[in-house]
Amino acid sequence: MKTFQLFGPKDIRLVEKAVPVPGAHEVLVRPVFTGICGSDIHYFRHGYCGQYKPLYPFALGHEFAGVVERVGQQVQGLAVGDCVAVDPSMPCGTCHHCRSGQYNLCLSMRYFGSASCHPHIDGSMSQFVVVPAVNCYVLPPQMPMEHAALLEPLCVALHAVRQAGHVSGKSVFIAGGGPIGQLILRVLKAFGTYSITVSDVDAFARGFALKSGASAVVDPLVESEWKGMADFDVAFEASGNPAALSNALHVVKRGGDVVLVGTLPETFSISGNVIMNRQLRLLGSFRFAHVFEEALKLVASGIIELDGMVTATFSFDDIPLAFQQALEKNGHMKIQIAS
Ligand SMILES: [Zn+2]
Ligand SMILES: [Zn+2]
Repeated sequence: MKTFQLFGPKDIRLVEKAVPVPGAHEVLVRPVFTGICGSDIHYFRHGYCGQYKPLYPFALGHEFAGVVERVGQQVQGLAVGDCVAVDPSMPCGTCHHCRSGQYNLCLSMRYFGSASCHPHIDGSMSQFVVVPAVNCYVLPPQMPMEHAALLEPLCVALHAVRQAGHVSGKSVFIAGGGPIGQLILRVLKAFGTYSITVSDVDAFARGFALKSGASAVVDPLVESEWKGMADFDVAFEASGNPAALSNALHVVKRGGDVVLVGTLPETFSISGNVIMNRQLRLLGSFRFAHVFEEALKLVASGIIELDGMVTATFSFDDIPLAFQQALEKNGHMKIQIAS
């Protein structure tokens, strides 16, 4: 089979490999749609993502949906031909965090398309991928597969909103109008948030947010647009930019919550005293836990709309080109690969 592996910064190559054989409790999935995530772009740009530094080439891709091609002997409830969305989390199930219900913090987490563990787990930028049966969710017949491949980032957004607790009736600031920021916006709309302001330097992202129902948008580089704002109950940092985090800390009200979901640089400087003297609560949000089925239902029922999120689709053979486009952004929200 063909697989695209990351060899280093901006170096993705086509490699031939044997088709993997599913174990007793696994299935062989043919990915049909795979989304390019912000973390994939990090890997592509730098050759690593945060503290995850690949030691050898591996295949990216953790936002995917596909068709079951083979089932392991012990698998129940899945059949060849089923269309499935895949939850890419494979926690150990036995560590302290797994046992306490926070499996997203698992000390031995295996995650598709990630160098976070050794050996690295190949992702779905491949013609086939072996997936534990428990990670597969059969799609309702009306759900387009490109939407199913958006469930993973939607779960990241849902989990981030969960960190803020009740959001109904509140006013919220989102720093960063990329896919995660936009999905947070859609979750908040579904959950009855009173007003949502989205901040992004990119005019396309601001326009996109307005079309998706944001109450207001601001350009963080135009100080007059956001200076004086200081009344948000909650702020989400979804850009990974230290300046955006600094803005979020200043626009949230005293005693407010700031949820960090963007991948920030390892080290940077901010005016940290504002956290203490305004008694802010900084809440990290990493991947997600226990929300995949909820996300599936919210989309299947139409409570959360995903229309318009995918702005470009590339063929499997054009994966390197798709990454280049994702890096340059150029008016794109989510880019997907169709196999
Ligand atoms: Zn992702
Ligand atoms: Zn664990």
